[in-house]
Parts: sequence; C-alpha cells; structure tokens
Amino acid sequence: MQKGSIGVTTENIFPIIKKFLYSDHEIFLRELVANAIDATQKLKTLAANGDFKGELGDVTVRVSLDKDKLIISDHGIGMTAEEVDKYLNQIAFSSADEFIKKYNNQSIIGHFGLGFYSAFMVSKKVEVLTLSHQEGAKAVKWSCDGSPEYQLEDAEKTERGTEITLYIDDESKDFLEEARIGELLRKYCRYLPVEIAFGKQKDWKDGKQVETDKDNIINDTNPAWTRKPADLKEDDYMAFYRDLYPMQEDPMFYIHLNVDYPFNLTGILYFPKIKSNIEFQKNKIQLYSNQVYVTDSVEGIVPDFLTLLHGVLDSPDIPLNVSRSYLQSDANVKKISGHITKKVADRLEEIFKKDRNNFEQKWDNLKLFIEYGVVTDEKFAERAEKFYLYKNTDNKYFTFDEYEKLIKGEQTNKDKKIVALYTTDVDAQYTFIEAAKAKGYDVLNLDGQLDMHFINYLESKKSDIRFTRVDSDVIDRLIQKDDHLPVTLPQDQQDDMRSVFEALLPQNGHFNVSYESIGEQASPMLITQNEFMRRMKDMSAMGGGGMNFYGTLPDSYNLVVNTDHPLVKKVIGEKDNSLGEELEKLSSELTPVETELKSLKDSLKDKKEDEIEQTQKDKRTDLQKQEDDIRNRRKEALTAYGKQNDLSKQLVDLALLANNMLKGEDLNRFIRRSVEMIH
Ligand code: ADP
Repeated sequence: MQKGSIGVTTENIFPIIKKFLYSDHEIFLRELVANAIDATQKLKTLAANGDFKGELGDVTVRVSLDKDKLIISDHGIGMTAEEVDKYLNQIAFSSADEFIKKYNNQSIIGHFGLGFYSAFMVSKKVEVLTLSHQEGAKAVKWSCDGSPEYQLEDAEKTERGTEITLYIDDESKDFLEEARIGELLRKYCRYLPVEIAFGKQKDWKDGKQVETDKDNIINDTNPAWTRKPADLKEDDYMAFYRDLYPMQEDPMFYIHLNVDYPFNLTGILYFPKIKSNIEFQKNKIQLYSNQVYVTDSVEGIVPDFLTLLHGVLDSPDIPLNVSRSYLQSDANVKKISGHITKKVADRLEEIFKKDRNNFEQKWDNLKLFIEYGVVTDEKFAERAEKFYLYKNTDNKYFTFDEYEKLIKGEQTNKDKKIVALYTTDVDAQYTFIEAAKAKGYDVLNLDGQLDMHFINYLESKKSDIRFTRVDSDVIDRLIQKDDHLPVTLPQDQQDDMRSVFEALLPQNGHFNVSYESIGEQASPMLITQNEFMRRMKDMSAMGGGGMNFYGTLPDSYNLVVNTDHPLVKKVIGEKDNSLGEELEKLSSELTPVETELKSLKDSLKDKKEDEIEQTQKDKRTDLQKQEDDIRNRRKEALTAYGKQNDLSKQLVDLALLANNMLKGEDLNRFIRRSVEMIH
C-alpha cells in the first residue's frame, strides 16, 4: 500500500473546497458523470482507431445510491496506478491561495474545471476503484477521507473502467435522495452522449410501483442540435422544443446553428411568441459545452435581445471559468455572438421574403423582439430594415420603403419632411384618428412596449421623417403645409375668452388656450398634447437616461378653441351680452391710465434710473398699480362669469371627456349638468 500527501504545498485545500460556493455544491454530480462520459468516449475513439482491440461491451454509465453512498461507474478507459497518482494526487493548484484566487469569483459560469475534487464538497470520504483498459493492467483503489492524506492500494476489480464511491457527509444528506439525484441528472446530464442509467425503470403492478429489469436511462444521447439539419423534420424540432420547455406554447420558427470554423458552435434557437413583458421572457436559452449543461443564463454571451429567444447553444469555445464581464471582451465570444445575430436576421429575412403572408401573421408576436434588437444592436438594426413592418390602423403591413411611398404625397410638410402619424391607443384617440383619415392621412398603430424607443431611434437615423401622434395638434397643424393659418378672433377677444376658459379647466394640469379656425364640422374644443413634451415625459417614465428633468415637469396640454364652431361663437356672443357694459367701463377707465403711463415712460426712457426725480418715480409706480388693478378687475369679472357659465363649462368638459381626462367629481357634475340641459 502506498500512502502520501496530496500535492498541496502549504495548506489543506479540502476545507476550502467544502465551503466553496455552497449553493453550487450540486455540480459535483455533473463533474463526475462528465468524467465518466469522457473516459468512455476516449475508449470508443481508441477502439475506432484500432488502438484498443478488446470488446467494448456495455458502456452504460451507472449512477446509483446505496444507503450513505453515491456510486458512479463507467466502462471507459480506466486508470493505471501511475495515472491515478498523476491525475488525482497532483492537484493543479499549488496552494489554497491560488485556489481561492481562481475560484472565489461568484460570476464564474458553471464553475467548470473544479473536476474530480468537487466530490469533496459533499463527501467525507471518496474511493476510486479502477482498472485500466491496457493489457495486463492491475486494478487499484485510491481513497481519501478529506484530509490531504490519501491511500493507494492494489484491489480486486475484473471489469475495465472506474467506479467512484462517495461517502456523503452529514450536511449533504439530500444527495442521498433518489428524487434529488434524479432531478440533478435531468438538469445537467440529460443530453450527454453516452447512455446513463439511474436505477431501473419502474412499472405499476397490482396498484404498486415495482422495479423492472430494464435500465432507467435518463439521457438522450443524440439530441436534435447535434444532428444534421438535413436529417431533421419540422416535427423533430417541435418535439425537441417540447422536451426542453414542456409547458410552453409552440414557437413560431427556429434556427439550427452549425458552425465548425473559425469556432465551434451548434444549437437550435426558437422564436417564441413575445407579446409583452420582456423581462419575463429572458434567460431561457440553455448553454452547453459538448453536450454538458453549463447554465441557463447566456447573458454576456449573446446580445441582450437574443436572450428573449429559447433553445440551446453548445460551444466548447466559450471560456467557462472566467467572469461575465471578461466574457464580453473575449474574441471568440464576440465572433460567436456576431454570428448568431447575423443568422437570426438572415432567418427572419428569409421567412419574410419566402412567405410574407405568414410573416405578417406572426408580426405582432415578433415585433417586440425585433424592436428590442433594433434599438440595442446597431448591426441587427441595419439588417432588420429589410423586414421590419409598420402596421397601420387598418391592420395593413408595410416595410419602411413601402410606407414612405404611401404617405409621401399627402403627408409631406412645408419643410419637406414626411410626417408619419401614429396612435398609441386606437380607442382613446379615436376622434383624432377619424379626423386624420377623413383628411386622407394614414395612421400607424404604435401601441407596443418599445415603440417609442423605436421611433426615437428611427428619427435619429432618417432625417426626412418625423413621427407625430394624431392627438398632438389640430388636424391642420399636424402636418403643417403653409406658414400661416388664419386666426379669426381679434386679440382682445382671445385674451378675454382665455380668462373665461381658464376658470373652467382643471387646476392640476397646465393648460394653454389657443384659437384655431378648423371648420364648423370639427369639435368646438379639443385637447392636444405637444409631441415633443409628451415623448420626453414618456421616455423619462420608462427610465430613459438623462430624461429625468422632463419627468418632473407637470403635464402640459393645449385647449384648442375652434372659432368656426357655432357654439363657440355663441359663448363669445353671450359673454359680450352679459359683460359687455362692465368690460367697456373698465376699458374706458384703462385707456387714460395706459396713455398716461406710456407717455411718462417715453419721457423717461433716455434717463438713467438715478437721474429720475423721486416724484416722477412715484407717479410711475402709481400708474402701473392702477393699470394692473384695472386689468385684474377685468380678469376677475371674466373668471367669475366663466365659473357660472354652463355652456362654456359643458364645452370644456366635452373636450376633457374626449381625452379621458374628466374623472371623479367633475365627471359626476358633468353628467348632472347634461341631464339638466337635456330637460
Ligand atoms: P479534468 O476532467 O478537467 O481533466 P478532473 O479533476 O475531473 O479534471 O480529472 C482529472 C483527470 O483524472 C482526468 O483528466 C482523467 O484523466 C482522470 N479521470 C477522472 N475521472 C476519470 C474516470 N472516470 N475514468 C478515467 N479517468 C478519469
């Protein structure tokens, strides 16, 4: 018997291994099974090359539980005593310090490379019984109880291969439960290339579960992504999807990736239906390395938008023992990520070209994914231009070029910019949409989660197009074709009526009153919201960087008064009737004060402030006070008038109602007032 110390020079490494990343202790199983598969594959290769002449026999890898033991056995190449000494006694780390430096990084993907020694994370003692495939080899048994001391001795074993026995420690008892081991095998080993048996298949007999003599094989050794696309049918792809995601709705399309130069990459990516809530959809892609499961988080390996896809990526060329941030700068990872992006775009373009109808039908479920790609990935955005679709309120779909052609004639403004009109809510903005259509304009439906980001992006790329929401202005100003629009109301009337209407508008929002001549058929009053301000506020609400300033501003709206409308004319006429005399009186009081103040200011305008006599300064202050006072009285009179004017109130409320802005008590009062008016 040989005794010795494991090649750790300074400290005992086992306590560190045991403590290391507690939550990931379960990976020991993957490491040991992967070693068993490797040993089997190596033997198969030797046999195929004629370097191993014996019988391969049954090469199933077996995992079993026996009281306090977990046993993993294979019929692979096995190890000679020298090999055991070389591979198991010389830990690759010369000190505990180095070990910690290498592994104490929480972001290591899957913590690959810990290998055989991960067995000590869960065991108080490990035994390795092995017989090499080499002719005349003698079986050996290595054992170690978690201290640096090991034992190596001759042993009895007639079958080629390795059997590893873990004496599970008291803190890790859950690894002795059949269900737990079954679950872990399914998670990490389900697509490994050599059959793995975990106990026997079970059957129901007389209402009881009984073991059969058939092996319970837990893996698919030949999963779809490892096969040639030519050998697979649509059904095979769908069956594999269901195997991966049993509870999910079928995907829309898939891509089979298969590259072997300049890097190795295989995999199948599926396009699920994505309607809303991007975050919920992320991180369903599983990453494998030569069929060994690594992680279900491919963040940092593929561009963020691609994490919305489902499926499997398998690449031994993705470095697995580095941090995520390092990963993104790795040359191979960059190439792989660029390749996948290109393949995804190519596939979408192919479907669009081959079967546009089908593509259009799936568009609503694809759009969010594509927009996410467009606004976050320059390269993808360029490619997506060929197949990105714009959908209008008649549910027709257009590419950018097609849409530009469609609206160019009617929707070019005086600055030669094409104005694309859109709605974010077909029901809420119905009146405005109808008005736009009646005018011969087309309206796009942009009600998606990322649409606002998308149009911002597009406007930054294309200088000849602007997006304007249908309710951001009155129809004639929406796409302004002349410099001047006629205004029919004299300035003093505008000012008077502004005071009347302002008295009737909600006090919590900021309203600007303006007057437009928009025809007798249009509504008497409309509420619009400036495109720029609204978009900035929306973006800041969505957390757009640097937009917080806009988020703090109050909402601001325009109350547009249609001076052509008979009811507006009536309201103005009534104001003149009931307030005319009073206002005239105030005017006649104001005129002399105004004139005097003006001539005084004129006479003083060439003098510096300290050259003006005090009496004159006092006079000026007094006149200014009188003028302000008369104006205030005028405003007060108009406000008081406005407050009790039911017709004006009704018109303002109707405009608020049309924008879904009349709520609570105000809405209740409006209804009561309407009923009274109908009486
Ligand atoms: P890695 O697998 O990364 O090389 P391990 O610590 O897991 O590191 O294993 C070290 C070596 O021990 C392996 O490279 C292999 O040569 C040998 N080995 C481990 N398990 C087995 C096994 N089941 N059969 C034969 N050789 C094995």
